[in-house]
Amino acid sequence: MAVRKVLRYGEPSLREVSKDVHKVSKKITDLVRDLLDTMYSQNGVGLAAPQIGENVRVFVIDVSTGNEPLNPIVFINPKIIKKSGAIKSNEGCLSFPEAYTDVKRYKNVMVKATNEHGKPFVIEAKDGTLLARAIQHEYDHLDGILFIDHCMNRFEADAVLEKYNLPHIDPDLLIDEKELEEELAKND
Ligand code: ZN
Repeated sequence: MAVRKVLRYGEPSLREVSKDVHKVSKKITDLVRDLLDTMYSQNGVGLAAPQIGENVRVFVIDVSTGNEPLNPIVFINPKIIKKSGAIKSNEGCLSFPEAYTDVKRYKNVMVKATNEHGKPFVIEAKDGTLLARAIQHEYDHLDGILFIDHCMNRFEADAVLEKYNLPHIDPDLLIDEKELEEELAKND
C-alpha cells in the first residue's frame, strides 16, 4: 500500500483517545497495510494508527530480528486483560526521532485483540521481552499516552525533550506509577 508520514511529538492527534473499530472493513485492512509498510520503512518494532493520523484502536508489532522471517502481529481493539511484575528499560518512539529514556512497564501482559481477518486472539508476553514492552508502548498510543509520560517527574521528561529540541511536557500528563515503582523496588 503506502508508506505514510509518521506524526511527530507535538501533533495534537497523538494526544487523542482513539475510537474502537466496529468492523474490520477494507478501510481498516488498508490501514493495517500502511502501518506495516510505514513501520518496516523506519525499522520500527511497532506503530500505532494515531501515529499516522488515524485515531482508531489499531497497532502493529514485529519483533523479528536479523534473518528471521517477518512476523507482523496486528492488534485491533486490544484490551490488556492481565498484567504483572515490573521492568525498567530504555525505549524510543518513531514519533520522537532519536529520543530515548528509561520507561517502567509491566513484565508480563496478556492481551485480547482482533486480527486483520476479524478473528479474536489472545497473546501472552512474559519476562519483559521486547514484545511485552512494545505491546504496552503501542497500547498507550491508543489512549493518547506517550512514552515520555512515564518519566518520574517533569524534570526528567524535560531533560530528555530538551536534548532533542522538543517542546516541554505538560506535567499533568505524567503518569502516577506507584504500583510499578513498588514492584521495581522489590526487585532491587
Ligand atoms: Zn511510540
